[in-house]
Amino acid sequence: MAYTSRLLAAVPGVRHAFLNAAEAARFDRASLVDIKQVHGCDVLAYRTPPAERPSADGVFADLAGQKLGVYTADCLPLLMASRDGRFISSVHAGWRGAAAGIIQRAVAQFAVSGIPEAEIVVAIGPHIGACCYEVSGEFYARLLQTPAAGLVRARRESLLFSQPRRPTALSPAAREAGSQWFALADFCVMQLIHADVVPDNIEVLNICTYCTPGEVLGSYRRRTHAPKEKTQQISWIARVE
Ligand SMILES: [Zn+2]
Repeated sequence: MAYTSRLLAAVPGVRHAFLNAAEAARFDRASLVDIKQVHGCDVLAYRTPPAERPSADGVFADLAGQKLGVYTADCLPLLMASRDGRFISSVHAGWRGAAAGIIQRAVAQFAVSGIPEAEIVVAIGPHIGACCYEVSGEFYARLLQTPAAGLVRARRESLLFSQPRRPTALSPAAREAGSQWFALADFCVMQLIHADVVPDNIEVLNICTYCTPGEVLGSYRRRTHAPKEKTQQISWIARVE
């Protein structure tokens, strides 16, 4: 069953779903605005189909009847809507895109359309948790070379852990000495709050792509540990016609 957000479900005239891997495999991909996801920070303001498939990791629109969506397999899918249901956005955020500012860019699209930050509702779907997201000892230094350096430095203890955080029986054992475990969702929530989105308007579905039983979710990291056919999630949002 697709995962849904309680907060987004309360937005009038908006439908959404965080599809699991099996549902994503059956989903009509042609129904989405077609973007090439590149782990960047561009958000496409969509009106009509572009002549060429744009490189972007987010889409923003106010059109009814057009689904916006993103593909993920460990990265964060964010679905956003103005509380009045007039504007929607879908965003793909891995650590690179988040550190480069894609979340602020998405929030800015709402602001340009006259929506105050306090009127934006955000749901974060299944993603790799700090239970399973092992990063190298150099990862912190890499984050410090990004535009998010100040935030990372100030919140280091909330973002990077010396042990897996709340691991499950299916979380992988450490692969290297000196590793840390990164809380990607917390990183994105911090950025949302930094961009003046209200904490009460942010919902995080704490569902880990790696260690949720049954491999119902696609995980890039899990496939690097145990090679298997590629699977991924699709998360979509639309205004109803
Ligand atoms: Zn996990």
